[in-house]
Amino acid sequence: MGNRATNTVNELIIEALKSSKDGFGVYNEEDVLVFCNDKLAENFGFQSHEIIGMPFETMLRQSHSAGAGVATDDHIEGLVERAKASRLEKGFASFESDMQDGSWVQVSRLKTDDNFIYIYVTDITKLKKTESELRGALRYVKKLAATDSLTGISNRRHFLETAEVEFERSLNYGHPLSILALDIDHFKSINDHYGHQAGDQVLEAITLCCQKLLRESDVFGRLGGEEFSILLPDTPESAAKVTAQRILKTVAALEVNYQGQCIRFTTSVGIAQLREGCDNLESLMNQSDEALYDAKHKGRNRMAVWPIKH
Ligand code: GH3
Ligand code: MG
Ligand code: MG
Repeated sequence: MGNRATNTVNELIIEALKSSKDGFGVYNEEDVLVFCNDKLAENFGFQSHEIIGMPFETMLRQSHSAGAGVATDDHIEGLVERAKASRLEKGFASFESDMQDGSWVQVSRLKTDDNFIYIYVTDITKLKKTESELRGALRYVKKLAATDSLTGISNRRHFLETAEVEFERSLNYGHPLSILALDIDHFKSINDHYGHQAGDQVLEAITLCCQKLLRESDVFGRLGGEEFSILLPDTPESAAKVTAQRILKTVAALEVNYQGQCIRFTTSVGIAQLREGCDNLESLMNQSDEALYDAKHKGRNRMAVWPIKH
Protein backbone atom coordinates (compact mmCIF):
# COMPACT_ATOMS: atom_id res chain seq x y z
CA MET A 1 0.00 0.00 0.00
CA GLY A 2 1.35 3.43 -0.90
CA ASN A 3 1.90 6.22 1.63
CA ARG A 4 -1.16 8.10 0.46
CA ALA A 5 -3.38 5.09 0.84
CA THR A 6 -1.95 4.33 4.31
CA ASN A 7 -2.57 7.89 5.42
CA THR A 8 -6.15 7.69 4.21
CA VAL A 9 -6.71 4.44 6.12
CA ASN A 10 -5.15 5.94 9.29
CA GLU A 11 -7.36 9.00 8.99
CA LEU A 12 -10.41 6.82 8.56
CA ILE A 13 -9.50 4.75 11.66
CA ILE A 14 -8.97 7.92 13.70
CA GLU A 15 -12.31 9.32 12.49
CA ALA A 16 -14.04 6.07 13.44
CA LEU A 17 -12.41 6.06 16.89
CA LYS A 18 -13.34 9.70 17.49
CA SER A 19 -17.03 9.06 16.91
CA SER A 20 -17.06 5.65 18.65
CA LYS A 21 -19.51 4.97 21.49
CA ASP A 22 -16.64 3.22 23.27
CA GLY A 23 -13.86 5.18 24.92
CA PHE A 24 -10.37 5.03 23.44
CA GLY A 25 -7.14 6.62 24.62
CA VAL A 26 -3.37 6.36 24.19
CA TYR A 27 -0.82 7.20 26.90
CA ASN A 28 2.88 7.62 26.10
CA GLU A 29 5.83 6.17 28.02
CA GLU A 30 5.49 9.00 30.60
CA ASP A 31 1.84 7.98 31.11
CA VAL A 32 0.68 11.24 29.56
CA LEU A 33 -2.51 11.09 27.49
CA VAL A 34 -1.56 11.76 23.87
CA PHE A 35 -4.83 10.84 22.19
CA CYS A 36 -8.40 10.16 23.28
CA ASN A 37 -11.86 10.32 21.83
CA ASP A 38 -14.77 12.25 23.37
CA LYS A 39 -16.22 9.14 24.98
CA LEU A 40 -13.08 8.36 27.00
CA ALA A 41 -12.90 11.98 28.19
CA GLU A 42 -16.58 11.79 29.12
CA ASN A 43 -15.92 8.65 31.21
CA PHE A 44 -13.64 10.79 33.37
CA GLY A 45 -15.96 13.82 33.38
CA PHE A 46 -13.94 15.90 30.90
CA GLN A 47 -13.93 17.05 27.31
CA SER A 48 -11.11 15.57 25.22
CA HIS A 49 -9.26 18.87 24.65
CA GLU A 50 -9.12 19.39 28.45
CA ILE A 51 -7.19 16.21 29.13
CA ILE A 52 -4.98 15.55 26.14
CA GLY A 53 -1.47 16.29 27.41
CA MET A 54 -2.41 15.49 31.00
CA PRO A 55 -0.59 12.76 33.00
CA PHE A 56 -2.82 9.81 33.94
CA GLU A 57 -2.40 10.43 37.68
CA THR A 58 -3.50 14.09 37.39
CA MET A 59 -6.49 13.03 35.33
CA LEU A 60 -7.49 10.45 37.94
CA ARG A 61 -7.16 12.95 40.81
CA GLN A 62 -9.00 15.75 39.00
CA SER A 63 -11.86 13.55 37.90
CA HIS A 64 -12.15 12.14 41.43
CA SER A 65 -12.36 15.57 43.04
CA ALA A 66 -14.99 16.53 40.45
CA GLY A 67 -17.05 13.47 41.53
CA ALA A 68 -16.54 11.68 38.21
CA GLY A 69 -14.49 8.74 36.94
CA VAL A 70 -13.82 5.48 38.75
CA ALA A 71 -15.76 4.85 41.97
CA THR A 72 -13.70 4.12 45.05
CA ASP A 73 -14.64 3.05 48.56
CA ASP A 74 -11.43 4.27 50.10
CA HIS A 75 -9.36 7.42 49.81
CA ILE A 76 -8.17 8.65 46.40
CA GLU A 77 -4.56 7.77 47.37
CA GLY A 78 -5.53 4.08 47.49
CA LEU A 79 -7.06 4.29 44.03
CA VAL A 80 -4.03 6.10 42.60
CA GLU A 81 -1.64 3.54 44.13
CA ARG A 82 -3.62 0.58 42.78
CA ALA A 83 -4.00 2.12 39.32
CA LYS A 84 -0.30 3.01 39.09
CA ALA A 85 0.78 -0.45 40.22
CA SER A 86 -1.45 -2.19 37.69
CA ARG A 87 -0.24 0.13 34.89
CA LEU A 88 3.30 -1.16 35.41
CA GLU A 89 2.26 -4.54 33.98
CA LYS A 90 3.14 -5.08 30.34
CA GLY A 91 0.77 -6.79 27.93
CA PHE A 92 -2.99 -7.14 27.89
CA ALA A 93 -5.32 -6.70 30.86
CA SER A 94 -9.09 -6.57 31.06
CA PHE A 95 -11.20 -5.65 34.07
CA GLU A 96 -14.58 -4.31 35.08
CA SER A 97 -14.90 -1.07 36.94
CA ASP A 98 -17.81 0.78 38.52
CA MET A 99 -17.96 4.50 38.02
CA GLN A 100 -18.96 7.38 40.28
CA ASP A 101 -22.14 7.99 38.26
CA GLY A 102 -23.35 4.42 38.92
CA SER A 103 -22.44 3.07 35.49
CA TRP A 104 -20.15 0.07 34.84
CA VAL A 105 -17.39 -0.16 32.25
CA GLN A 106 -15.22 -2.93 30.87
CA VAL A 107 -11.65 -1.68 30.48
CA SER A 108 -9.28 -3.37 28.05
CA ARG A 109 -5.71 -2.20 28.37
CA LEU A 110 -2.62 -2.98 26.34
CA LYS A 111 0.85 -1.89 27.45
CA THR A 112 3.35 -2.26 24.63
CA ASP A 113 7.07 -3.06 24.91
CA ASP A 114 7.84 0.63 24.33
CA ASN A 115 5.59 1.47 27.32
CA PHE A 116 2.68 3.02 25.45
CA ILE A 117 -0.70 2.25 26.97
CA TYR A 118 -3.81 1.79 24.83
CA ILE A 119 -7.14 1.89 26.67
CA TYR A 120 -10.51 0.73 25.34
CA VAL A 121 -13.54 1.35 27.55
CA THR A 122 -16.96 -0.21 26.89
CA ASP A 123 -20.12 0.63 28.80
CA ILE A 124 -21.49 -2.57 30.37
CA THR A 125 -24.09 -1.00 32.67
CA LYS A 126 -27.01 -2.78 30.98
CA LEU A 127 -25.16 -6.09 31.09
CA LYS A 128 -24.36 -5.62 34.81
CA LYS A 129 -27.99 -4.75 35.56
CA THR A 130 -29.21 -7.85 33.72
CA GLU A 131 -26.56 -9.95 35.49
CA SER A 132 -27.66 -8.66 38.88
CA GLU A 133 -31.35 -9.25 38.04
CA LEU A 134 -30.52 -12.78 36.93
CA ARG A 135 -28.59 -13.44 40.13
CA GLY A 136 -31.57 -12.18 42.14
CA ALA A 137 -33.98 -14.32 40.14
CA LEU A 138 -31.76 -17.37 40.59
CA ARG A 139 -31.59 -16.80 44.36
CA TYR A 140 -35.38 -16.50 44.44
CA VAL A 141 -35.94 -19.64 42.36
CA LYS A 142 -33.46 -21.62 44.47
CA LYS A 143 -35.24 -20.53 47.64
CA LEU A 144 -38.61 -21.38 46.12
CA ALA A 145 -37.41 -24.84 45.08
CA ALA A 146 -36.12 -25.53 48.60
CA THR A 147 -39.06 -24.21 50.60
CA ASP A 148 -42.37 -25.67 51.64
CA SER A 149 -44.84 -23.02 50.52
CA LEU A 150 -47.24 -23.35 53.46
CA THR A 151 -44.83 -23.36 56.40
CA GLY A 152 -41.75 -21.67 54.90
CA ILE A 153 -39.38 -24.37 56.19
CA SER A 154 -37.37 -26.82 54.05
CA ASN A 155 -39.36 -29.12 51.83
CA ARG A 156 -38.56 -32.83 51.62
CA ARG A 157 -35.93 -32.44 48.90
CA HIS A 158 -34.03 -29.66 50.63
CA PHE A 159 -34.32 -31.37 54.01
CA LEU A 160 -32.79 -34.55 52.57
CA GLU A 161 -30.01 -32.59 50.89
CA THR A 162 -29.07 -30.71 54.05
CA ALA A 163 -29.55 -33.72 56.32
CA GLU A 164 -27.29 -35.79 54.07
CA VAL A 165 -24.42 -33.33 54.58
CA GLU A 166 -24.86 -33.40 58.37
CA PHE A 167 -25.18 -37.18 58.37
CA GLU A 168 -21.91 -37.63 56.45
CA ARG A 169 -20.16 -35.18 58.75
CA SER A 170 -21.26 -37.05 61.87
CA LEU A 171 -20.28 -40.36 60.31
CA ASN A 172 -16.81 -39.10 59.35
CA TYR A 173 -16.03 -37.38 62.65
CA GLY A 174 -17.78 -39.89 64.90
CA HIS A 175 -20.05 -37.19 66.33
CA PRO A 176 -23.40 -38.17 67.83
CA LEU A 177 -26.52 -37.45 65.79
CA SER A 178 -30.22 -38.08 66.25
CA ILE A 179 -33.32 -37.78 64.12
CA LEU A 180 -36.86 -37.06 65.26
CA ALA A 181 -39.84 -38.07 63.13
CA LEU A 182 -42.96 -36.03 63.94
CA ASP A 183 -46.53 -36.68 62.89
CA ILE A 184 -49.59 -34.79 64.13
CA ASP A 185 -52.13 -37.04 65.87
CA HIS A 186 -55.56 -37.47 64.29
CA PHE A 187 -54.87 -34.67 61.86
CA LYS A 188 -57.47 -35.97 59.45
CA SER A 189 -60.16 -35.39 62.06
CA ILE A 190 -59.00 -31.74 62.48
CA ASN A 191 -59.51 -31.27 58.74
CA ASP A 192 -62.84 -33.10 58.86
CA HIS A 193 -64.10 -31.16 61.85
CA TYR A 194 -62.80 -27.64 61.21
CA GLY A 195 -61.96 -27.67 57.51
CA HIS A 196 -58.79 -27.79 55.43
CA GLN A 197 -57.88 -24.16 56.13
CA ALA A 198 -57.93 -24.80 59.85
CA GLY A 199 -55.67 -27.81 59.22
CA ASP A 200 -53.27 -25.52 57.38
CA GLN A 201 -53.24 -23.13 60.33
CA VAL A 202 -52.39 -26.04 62.63
CA LEU A 203 -49.48 -26.97 60.36
CA GLU A 204 -48.19 -23.39 60.51
CA ALA A 205 -48.59 -23.31 64.29
CA ILE A 206 -46.68 -26.53 64.93
CA THR A 207 -43.90 -25.37 62.61
CA LEU A 208 -43.47 -22.10 64.49
CA CYS A 209 -43.60 -23.93 67.82
CA CYS A 210 -40.83 -26.37 66.83
CA GLN A 211 -38.69 -23.61 65.31
CA LYS A 212 -38.70 -21.83 68.66
CA LEU A 213 -37.50 -24.96 70.44
CA LEU A 214 -34.75 -25.86 67.96
CA ARG A 215 -31.17 -24.67 67.58
CA GLU A 216 -29.83 -22.85 64.55
CA SER A 217 -27.84 -25.95 63.57
CA ASP A 218 -30.83 -28.33 63.67
CA VAL A 219 -32.28 -29.30 60.31
CA PHE A 220 -36.06 -29.06 60.18
CA GLY A 221 -38.23 -29.99 57.23
CA ARG A 222 -41.79 -30.82 56.25
CA LEU A 223 -41.65 -34.15 54.47
CA GLY A 224 -45.28 -33.95 53.34
CA GLY A 225 -48.81 -33.73 54.79
CA GLU A 226 -48.52 -33.50 58.58
CA GLU A 227 -45.15 -35.24 58.75
CA PHE A 228 -41.98 -33.48 59.77
CA SER A 229 -38.42 -34.54 60.37
CA ILE A 230 -35.78 -32.93 62.57
CA LEU A 231 -32.12 -33.82 62.37
CA LEU A 232 -30.21 -32.93 65.53
CA PRO A 233 -26.45 -32.69 64.98
CA ASP A 234 -24.10 -33.36 67.92
CA THR A 235 -27.02 -34.83 69.83
CA PRO A 236 -27.04 -38.24 71.54
CA GLU A 237 -30.30 -40.05 72.29
CA SER A 238 -30.55 -38.67 75.85
CA ALA A 239 -30.52 -35.03 74.63
CA ALA A 240 -32.83 -35.87 71.71
CA LYS A 241 -35.36 -37.22 74.23
CA VAL A 242 -35.25 -33.91 76.12
CA THR A 243 -35.97 -31.98 72.91
CA ALA A 244 -38.74 -34.40 71.92
CA GLN A 245 -40.31 -34.10 75.37
CA ARG A 246 -40.29 -30.29 75.09
CA ILE A 247 -41.94 -30.47 71.68
CA LEU A 248 -44.65 -32.85 72.94
CA LYS A 249 -45.40 -30.64 75.92
CA THR A 250 -45.41 -27.35 74.04
CA VAL A 251 -47.51 -28.66 71.15
CA ALA A 252 -50.07 -30.13 73.54
CA ALA A 253 -50.41 -26.72 75.19
CA LEU A 254 -50.87 -24.88 71.87
CA GLU A 255 -54.18 -23.25 71.09
CA VAL A 256 -54.92 -22.44 67.47
CA ASN A 257 -57.72 -19.93 67.08
CA TYR A 258 -59.68 -20.55 63.93
CA GLN A 259 -62.76 -18.42 63.28
CA GLY A 260 -63.49 -18.08 66.96
CA GLN A 261 -62.88 -21.75 67.69
CA CYS A 262 -59.98 -23.02 69.74
CA ILE A 263 -58.23 -26.04 68.23
CA ARG A 264 -56.05 -28.22 70.47
CA PHE A 265 -53.99 -31.10 69.15
CA THR A 266 -51.06 -33.36 69.94
CA THR A 267 -48.19 -34.98 68.08
CA SER A 268 -46.17 -38.17 68.28
CA VAL A 269 -42.41 -38.40 67.94
CA GLY A 270 -40.08 -41.24 66.94
CA ILE A 271 -36.40 -40.98 67.89
CA ALA A 272 -33.42 -42.70 66.29
CA GLN A 273 -29.80 -42.16 67.21
CA LEU A 274 -26.96 -42.81 64.78
CA ARG A 275 -25.52 -46.18 65.85
CA GLU A 276 -22.78 -48.44 64.71
CA GLY A 277 -23.78 -50.36 61.59
CA CYS A 278 -26.00 -47.57 60.24
CA ASP A 279 -24.20 -46.02 57.29
CA ASN A 280 -26.92 -44.13 55.43
CA LEU A 281 -29.46 -41.44 56.18
CA GLU A 282 -32.36 -43.40 54.73
CA SER A 283 -31.86 -46.25 57.23
CA LEU A 284 -31.73 -43.81 60.12
CA MET A 285 -34.91 -42.11 58.94
CA ASN A 286 -36.60 -45.50 58.59
CA GLN A 287 -35.64 -46.24 62.19
CA SER A 288 -37.16 -42.95 63.39
CA ASP A 289 -40.31 -43.82 61.39
CA GLU A 290 -40.51 -47.22 63.09
CA ALA A 291 -40.20 -45.49 66.46
CA LEU A 292 -42.92 -43.02 65.43
CA TYR A 293 -45.20 -45.86 64.47
CA ASP A 294 -44.56 -47.38 67.89
CA ALA A 295 -45.47 -44.08 69.61
CA LYS A 296 -48.73 -43.95 67.63
CA HIS A 297 -49.43 -47.59 68.45
CA LYS A 298 -48.88 -47.01 72.16
CA GLY A 299 -51.52 -44.25 72.30
CA ARG A 300 -50.10 -41.08 70.59
CA ASN A 301 -49.01 -37.79 72.25
CA ARG A 302 -45.80 -39.54 73.25
CA MET A 303 -42.33 -40.41 72.03
CA ALA A 304 -40.72 -43.76 71.32
CA VAL A 305 -37.11 -44.67 70.70
CA TRP A 306 -35.57 -47.09 68.18
CA PRO A 307 -34.88 -50.02 68.64
CA ILE A 308 -38.37 -50.79 69.82
CA LYS A 309 -38.74 -52.87 72.98
CA HIS A 310 -41.73 -55.15 72.75
P1 GH3 B 1 -52.50 -40.40 62.94
O1 GH3 B 1 -52.82 -39.96 64.31
O2 GH3 B 1 -52.40 -41.89 62.82
O3 GH3 B 1 -51.29 -39.72 62.39
O4 GH3 B 1 -53.75 -40.00 62.02
P2 GH3 B 1 -53.88 -38.77 61.05
O5 GH3 B 1 -55.31 -38.48 60.87
O6 GH3 B 1 -53.05 -37.65 61.53
O7 GH3 B 1 -53.19 -39.32 59.74
P3 GH3 B 1 -53.74 -39.58 58.30
O8 GH3 B 1 -52.52 -40.01 57.50
O9 GH3 B 1 -54.91 -40.52 58.30
O10 GH3 B 1 -54.23 -38.18 57.78
C1 GH3 B 1 -53.39 -37.17 57.35
C2 GH3 B 1 -54.26 -36.11 56.73
O11 GH3 B 1 -53.47 -34.94 56.42
C3 GH3 B 1 -54.88 -36.53 55.44
C4 GH3 B 1 -54.67 -35.38 54.48
O12 GH3 B 1 -55.86 -34.97 53.88
C5 GH3 B 1 -54.15 -34.26 55.38
N1 GH3 B 1 -53.25 -33.35 54.72
C6 GH3 B 1 -52.14 -33.62 53.99
N2 GH3 B 1 -51.55 -32.48 53.58
C7 GH3 B 1 -52.29 -31.45 54.06
C8 GH3 B 1 -52.18 -30.02 53.97
O13 GH3 B 1 -51.26 -29.46 53.37
N3 GH3 B 1 -53.11 -29.28 54.60
C9 GH3 B 1 -54.13 -29.86 55.29
N4 GH3 B 1 -55.01 -29.08 55.88
N5 GH3 B 1 -54.28 -31.20 55.36
C10 GH3 B 1 -53.37 -31.99 54.77
MG1 MG C 1 -50.96 -37.94 61.61
MG1 MG D 1 -49.14 -38.95 58.62
